[in-house]
Amino acid sequence: MTSEIFVLTGRNVMLPGCADPQAATIKVDLSTGKIIDIQSHHANKESLPSGNQNIRWVDAGDKIVLPGLVDAHVHLNEPGRTDWEGFWTGTRAAASGGITTVVDMPLNSIPPTTTVDNLETKRTAAAGQCWTDVAFWGGVIPGNESHLKPLISAGIKGFKCFLIESGVEEFPCVSEADLHIHMKELQNESTVLLFHAEVDRSTTSSERSDATDDPTLYGTYLSTRPEEMEVNAISLITKLQEAYPSLRCHIVHLSASSALPIIRAAKSRGLNLTVETCFHYLCLSANEIPKGHPEFKCCPPIRDDSNRNSLWQALREGLIDCVVSDHSPCVTELKKLEEGDIMGAWGGISTLGLGLSLLWTEGRKRGVTLGDIVNWLSERTSHLAGLSGKKGQLKVGYDADFVIWDPEAEFKVTKDLFKFKNKLSAYEGMVLTGVVQQTLLRGRVIYDKSRNGFEGLSPLGNLL
Ligand SMILES: [Zn+2]
Repeated sequence: MTSEIFVLTGRNVMLPGCADPQAATIKVDLSTGKIIDIQSHHANKESLPSGNQNIRWVDAGDKIVLPGLVDAHVHLNEPGRTDWEGFWTGTRAAASGGITTVVDMPLNSIPPTTTVDNLETKRTAAAGQCWTDVAFWGGVIPGNESHLKPLISAGIKGFKCFLIESGVEEFPCVSEADLHIHMKELQNESTVLLFHAEVDRSTTSSERSDATDDPTLYGTYLSTRPEEMEVNAISLITKLQEAYPSLRCHIVHLSASSALPIIRAAKSRGLNLTVETCFHYLCLSANEIPKGHPEFKCCPPIRDDSNRNSLWQALREGLIDCVVSDHSPCVTELKKLEEGDIMGAWGGISTLGLGLSLLWTEGRKRGVTLGDIVNWLSERTSHLAGLSGKKGQLKVGYDADFVIWDPEAEFKVTKDLFKFKNKLSAYEGMVLTGVVQQTLLRGRVIYDKSRNGFEGLSPLGNLL
């Protein structure tokens, strides 16, 4: 029996290591979902040898073909806070934005992913609901060190910890003493430890700025989370990593550009440290956030324009490795929209589905190439999550995950476009460039704009 073949051809395909797209024809074995051949020309169906006319075929024409994106920082919150987000809505939102793999954070679901039993609870909740592939980060909390190795054996991709209160009581932060215990446990494992890199202000010397106390002003919130909180946390992380140099460490959602010199020094000393930032830190700035709009609240906060420019520079230099969404929604009531209470609102920005357009819209003004975008959103995030060799590039032997994308089409961000559960986002009203036409997972369509998104399609995501 011959295996079922799918062919994707186009004039503008983003192959590995290329800044710009080129013609290519990619053959996929649908029984495995893997790429089995790549030729550097655009083909047409008539050119196939006779007898091969029944194979499935997509001609992307002049549209851009990218490897499926890997979003390594997403909070899906199910079970336990499924009214905030869930596997079904979250992965549909992801697929609509060209993402084919999300890596779920260990907190905000109940239970958190801190033991193998809890991981199984999450996997059971996710089963049959995922439109994209889903992988899981585990959690490091005080006292769960004996669960770490079993979690690695059970398939989690790494661990996240907090150096400051996480916002939910079932996921407490760790102290320096806790970290020694956990890092000792992890140091000889092939894994990665992710840090929410802010330490409490009581351990910093800075005084509160003299901004007003008006809770509806973004500046009031910003003054409570100064850059120093990130700088001190990152100093602690690099110091700890010196003691456990074989353990790969990663800083999630870097916002403070004043921490970049510490990161530069650590990397040049050869520490195995990587850093991510988020779409919101690259595309928004504090000066433009209107009064009374908690949609913009996240931790750490969005800072000013010069900070944003420094983050872009660091990204282009490779000091920041990758870009993720940190999609972290909640129910509308907790966002305190009616009161406009930024101080009292839950911190988290909803982004799933918009990231590629956001980064392209802002990035092209700054001269970034499509190759950069692929590097930051697919290749390096896939490496971060231990998925290199399988995800993140269009290469023989890799999963046939594709995005067919129109880089010139413009759209206005409106509520009706949101596929995530709670329809509020900091990006409403913005005009963005770049529209996903189709997303394919292992050679099969999981999102099709021309079919109203998901009509006639079904969730084909695996738990990785
Ligand atoms: Zn997060």
